[in-house]
Amino acid sequence: MSIQSTQYLTSVVPGAELPRENHPVFAFIGRSNSGKSSFLNCITNQKGLARSGATPGVTRKVNLYLVNKKYFFADLPGYGYAKMSRQDRNTLEKLIFWYLGNTELKFKNIFLLLDSRVGPTDDDLDIIDFLNAKNLPLTIIASKIDKLKSSEKQTQLKSIAANIPNHQIIPFSSVTAEGKKEVINIMGI
Ligand code: GDP
Repeated sequence: MSIQSTQYLTSVVPGAELPRENHPVFAFIGRSNSGKSSFLNCITNQKGLARSGATPGVTRKVNLYLVNKKYFFADLPGYGYAKMSRQDRNTLEKLIFWYLGNTELKFKNIFLLLDSRVGPTDDDLDIIDFLNAKNLPLTIIASKIDKLKSSEKQTQLKSIAANIPNHQIIPFSSVTAEGKKEVINIMGI
């Protein structure tokens, strides 16, 4: 199984009309600089597909892609950017919870990316609590795993698992493609 085609469709904000087709959705979330753009480019084999959202002032929207002509990939904007104003932070929070809280969408899986060296932040844990409360499917991507020595890797993965129980955690590197096959397998596409 693989990703054969990825096509940018549209970007949405609260109140916007969502695509009429109600394809199953894979959503991707994470704080800015978590490696989400690199992850998406790696799993879709398209280098320029997703761009880093860390630039201040960039309009924040949910970017939707059509994958294999029958799934949606929803790339949510990165959060936790330190220099963001309170107002922008609120807008961003509303956007994330609006999209993930939409009960009409068919979420097949939500991938939350976190830097494996850092582990979950309070922002990550808030989103995880929200998803758990709604019983939404969640998989954790422990990104930038190539940056850890093998001895540190196990310690970090154990610590992440202790903080986020009951969810699968996939060590991932967009540099070595470690974890890529596993992600595609989990998606079942
Ligand atoms: P985003 O803001 O979450 O979209 O993060 P990016 O994908 O833009 O990545 C942020 C920074 O981390 C960039 O400098 C990337 O080159 C780097 N990065 C992302 N993923 C990896 C990875 O798997 N390994 C390494 N070594 N660096 C990574």
